[in-house]
Parts: sequence; C-alpha cells; structure tokens
Amino acid sequence: MHFTGGMRTSNFQIVPLATEIAEAARRAAATGAPDHAVITVDSPGGFPCRHCLCWAQPGERVILFPFAAVPPGHPYSETGPIFVHVEPCQRYSATREYPPDFRIGRVFRAYNANHDMIDAEVANGNEPEAVIEKLLENPETAFVHSRSVTRGCYTFAIERI
Ligand SMILES: [Zn+2]
Repeated sequence: MHFTGGMRTSNFQIVPLATEIAEAARRAAATGAPDHAVITVDSPGGFPCRHCLCWAQPGERVILFPFAAVPPGHPYSETGPIFVHVEPCQRYSATREYPPDFRIGRVFRAYNANHDMIDAEVANGNEPEAVIEKLLENPETAFVHSRSVTRGCYTFAIERI
C-alpha cells in the first residue's frame, strides 16, 4: 500500500457487476422470467446490489437471479444467486476504493488465470485491503472474488491495476 499526497492508492481495482448484466436482469424480470425473482427488501443488511455495491434499503425492490461468477468450462465454474436493484442505479464508480458497505462479512477467493481457486481468506478483523493485497502478492493470482462469508454469494471482483 502506498501513500501519495495524502491519498491512499492500491494495486487493485474493484470490478462491480457490468451494467449490461444488470440491465439484462431488469429486462428478464420485467418479462416474468421464472429465474428472476423480484423481492421487496425487508431488512437493511441482507440484499447487496452488485451493481451499485450498496445494501438495498427496506422498501426498495431487488431482482434475485443466477450469475456465472466463474464462467462455464472450468473445474471451478460456478453460478449462484445475486441481487441488483429493480430501478436503474449507478454502477459503483470509486473503483480504487474498497466499497464501504462490505468491510465486514466477506471472504476473498484468489483465482489463477485458468479460473482455478488457489487461495481464500476471511478478513477476520483485518482490513480487507490488506487481505486483498496479500492474495495479490502471489504472482499466480489473476483476480480475486469477494463473497458473503455466511451464504457464499458472489459480491464483486477485484483485479490488479
Ligand atoms: Zn444498485
């Protein structure tokens, strides 16, 4: 971690869900696709939107749908449930900063360029940035995924800059 003119910079960037995927989910939900459920949020810390990387707030509506965080064709291929807001939201843009809503409750999985999981670590009270930078110290690490430590759901990706 480097300190430059008071601004903390890091060797990684946050990769939120692509806007095209969020918009495709909104279109699918609007047509009543059975694998795109619309849910009205009833608790403040249970429905993370993968597009704006914020907790959806009670009363807001979210779409629950399956997302291939690790694409098909690999031993670790994996599709699992994620949420996005029903209403258009702004894609998380502070990609050089760790999303403040997810400082706790995340596990970080490191993958190599073949999409094989090669390491994983829970922050356990450490700063998530320190865990990410440690995983990226391994030259084999191509990218890192953040997931819920309890339910295992994909939250966002982290890439080297
Ligand atoms: Zn959102």
